[in-house]
Amino acid sequence: MIVDFKPDFCDITLPDDHQYSIEDYSSAKAKWCSGCGGHTILNSVQKLCREEQLPPEKTVFVSGIGCSSRFPHYMKTYGFHGLHGRAFPVASGVKFRRPDLHVFVITGDGDCCSIGAGHWVHAIRYNMKMVVLLFDNSIYGLTKKQTSPTSPLGTHSNTHPTGSVLPPINPIQATLGLPNASFVAQTVDWKPAHLDATIRKAFEHPGLAFVRIVQRCPVWMRDTYEPTVKDPDAITVLYHEDGIVLEEKDLKKFRHTLDHDPSDIIKAREKAELVKDTTPIGLFYHNPTASRYDQYGAHNLGISTEDRIEAIDKLMNRYVI
Ligand code: SF4
Repeated sequence: MIVDFKPDFCDITLPDDHQYSIEDYSSAKAKWCSGCGGHTILNSVQKLCREEQLPPEKTVFVSGIGCSSRFPHYMKTYGFHGLHGRAFPVASGVKFRRPDLHVFVITGDGDCCSIGAGHWVHAIRYNMKMVVLLFDNSIYGLTKKQTSPTSPLGTHSNTHPTGSVLPPINPIQATLGLPNASFVAQTVDWKPAHLDATIRKAFEHPGLAFVRIVQRCPVWMRDTYEPTVKDPDAITVLYHEDGIVLEEKDLKKFRHTLDHDPSDIIKAREKAELVKDTTPIGLFYHNPTASRYDQYGAHNLGISTEDRIEAIDKLMNRYVI
């Protein structure tokens, strides 16, 4: 049964010249800890929504489980706070059936790179148009500090009190190794100009835009992030006119830049290795012409809803005794 559900805000008739403000996208006050990187990411996304004047009733945020996955509660749009690791299939279903909606996936390092890893692989390959924001704080924060798949080697946590023993997954390297990856970028939550420009570029991409955001968790990972935040040598900006472009004044704030053409996937994989010495931020890889599975939905094949129902009825009737 199809339920025609409309939230309250759909009943409000807006004048034609209505301009959405940040308040139109802001819902409950974010309950993340003070200093959590989630706050700056939320600000950046709301800014994008306002600048693009995205109709709230045409915008969907889908999340899994974790600190970051509370995100949909803070947006006055449609939202789906789902099951652990299942944000990708839910978002893919939404996009496949409703290509007119703006779809965002909010996921964390545990949600995406551990329990949701299988879905991550296939979502990248399906390459349906959506923006994926991986809030990577390298720890399970919501459940109070367990080792995550991206925790640096030797991280002390409740599950590894003497230090984690396995090398972490590098989400950028992993995504660049998947077939049909089409947009792979990295940024950090404490450089707002770069964060804003990255999320904007991701939104403009025609397929699935995967953005890993290195995110501060001052409660459980202060020792990991504080030195990086304070050290001007800890970040290298990958720069190119086809990449994440910054204003001159913002680019000057970074001490290290490296020329990188995002159309070159071999070089992108090499740059992803840099993470051992410094955190590279920017657009690693971009292929706007990669195949998109959402282009093969029934809505794009000229088949009407009535015809589809008739075809299904015909098929099912073959089994009627
Ligand atoms: Fe943010 Fe860490 Fe607090 Fe979670 S535990 S809300 S990631 S600071």
